Amino acid sequence: MLYLHIPYCHRKCSYCGFYSVACNHERDSYVDALCFELASRRVTAPLHTIYFGGGTPSLLTPVQLARIIDVIRSNYNLSEIKEVTIEANPENLTPKYLFELAGLNFFNRISIGVQSFSDKMLRMLNRVHSSEQAFLAVKDAAEAGFDNISVDLMMGLPGQHYADIEHSLDSIESLNGLVKHLSFYEYTVEPRTILEQQLKMKRCFMPDEDELASQYDLMIRWCKDHGFEQYEVSNFCRSGYRSLHNSRYWNLTPYIGIGAAAHSYDGISRRWNVADVTRYVEGAKEGMIPFEKELLSHEDSFNEYMMVALRTKDGVSKKMLSERFCDYEEYFERAIKPFQKAELIEETPDSYRPTPKGLLHADGIAQKLFL
Ligand code: SF4
Repeated sequence: MLYLHIPYCHRKCSYCGFYSVACNHERDSYVDALCFELASRRVTAPLHTIYFGGGTPSLLTPVQLARIIDVIRSNYNLSEIKEVTIEANPENLTPKYLFELAGLNFFNRISIGVQSFSDKMLRMLNRVHSSEQAFLAVKDAAEAGFDNISVDLMMGLPGQHYADIEHSLDSIESLNGLVKHLSFYEYTVEPRTILEQQLKMKRCFMPDEDELASQYDLMIRWCKDHGFEQYEVSNFCRSGYRSLHNSRYWNLTPYIGIGAAAHSYDGISRRWNVADVTRYVEGAKEGMIPFEKELLSHEDSFNEYMMVALRTKDGVSKKMLSERFCDYEEYFERAIKPFQKAELIEETPDSYRPTPKGLLHADGIAQKLFL
């Protein structure tokens, strides 16, 4: 798995705590640095998935993307590649840009950061695009030849109501099956964000628990009625359109993260590149990207597996328990019992998986299983 981080954004969204920068003057140098890191960390094992995430990867021009793709093609084994995703924001997705993107013959999945089809919500989020642009972006992406289209939506936002979610879902429906995958994120307050400040100053308010539950129920019911399988707490797809890249994160598959602030995982340690574009670019020029690394203990790996696997429909794999965590197998079987009794977890021949009710409490169950 290969992940490339493109940290540029047109402007900062009010809720966003990710590392991203609004200034764009260094983009060519950043692409040079990415190409350097890609070449210097090449591996011979075949890649199965590649993900361009951000920030806003669609702020890169097709020429800049083509340069990165050339370096990937000449340094990595793509003989078994299945999925190559690019994250994109609607305001960048003009028909011309989309046709050029499709013409690169590299990306077979596009993940569009819509967040809401309500213009009022989009303004509150400080997004650049309008609901109309979001709608057209999906249509034009399909027109350009993208079949595997994912849309990000948010729920539980300050000032957001059931009717806003309903409106967003109606918009998805009116796109007549073009959207194959939905990521539906519940808003959580991120420190040092505009929205956190506004909440502190009581300029806006979080929805109460009843409102949140009704939004969640609507989303679950709508997805079920419209042929979207909930395969992870926040992810829904039509048959055959699970995100392979994200599913591999949830199986603790090693990955290489390229770019400023990108994380990598090799099965025993985690490394993260410097979260500063200027230092990243300067480092690449000197032939050494600054990064930090930590060794993960066996307990850390087990806890991490609980955290991610219990959020998925497939749950905790018995094969994984017996092969990778055999020393904790007995502990796990004892600790999971109360959740089975409470019908939050069910045992299958291959797994311990959350029931629909269990998915609602996935994070809490995982925390109780931590070593
Ligand atoms: S939410 Fe996405 S587009 Fe908005 S600032 Fe964060 S990374 Fe950039």
